[in-house]
Amino acid sequence: MRIEIATLFPEMCEAYLSSSIIGRARKSGALEIHCRNIRDYTTDKHRRVDDKPFGGGMGMVMQADPIHRCWKAVCEELGKNPYVIYLSPQGKTLTQNTAVRLSQMGEEECLFLLCGHYEGVDQRILDKIVDEEISIGDYVLTGGELPALVLTDAIARMCHGVLPSALAFEEESHFSGLLEYPQYTRPEIWEGEAVPEILLSGHHVKIEQWRREESLRVTREKRPDMLEKWNRKDEESET
Ligand code: SAM
Repeated sequence: MRIEIATLFPEMCEAYLSSSIIGRARKSGALEIHCRNIRDYTTDKHRRVDDKPFGGGMGMVMQADPIHRCWKAVCEELGKNPYVIYLSPQGKTLTQNTAVRLSQMGEEECLFLLCGHYEGVDQRILDKIVDEEISIGDYVLTGGELPALVLTDAIARMCHGVLPSALAFEEESHFSGLLEYPQYTRPEIWEGEAVPEILLSGHHVKIEQWRREESLRVTREKRPDMLEKWNRKDEESET
């Protein structure tokens, strides 16, 4: 999986993507991620990327042309069009299912993540190149960089070779529609509080059973809406 992030602030994205698990996966070649500065695709001497909105109003709007040239450069490198996602507060809200779908697009696929800034992006370039709009929640941020990083992280951790095994993400909250069970580590007793005894028993079947029950309990307590949906899915698969 290749991911191209088109942004006016590539250094913001690089700082995050060079660290921890994603940074290691990039170094090992399991992930190919590039941060492209849209300003590098301008043609005037001031490297201008934005202008005032037609019709008046506050702020600046990102111009179509530098973005178009940036996208064309990626198309030429790939020999085909990438799948273009515009990070936008107007998009569909990101869910685990969306991240799973995008992570399964195939090794040969390239995602082109377009980060807006200021008042947003000229609608004409969005109409021309964007396949999908994704939001990370019903609030407005100053730019698409954090949303692009959130999306990249959610996808990347499910790509082959990034985590040690698929179990590492399949058991986590949201993957199956439930929240994860509580986790504990050493010491066995901390400030008088002991780890649940079952986890020290070495009895794998019983541990699995306990985790399942805890997962249901936690979901019921924290996200009853998720449990309801999960129960409905179960009933539907029986009919
Ligand atoms: N004027 C736009 C509107 O009202 O829909 C908001 C522009 S916002 C200040 C600047 C950029 O930040 C957007 O173009 C988008 O790329 C990004 N952005 C802001 N909030 C976002 C969110 N919740 N999810 C995804 N991207 C977001």
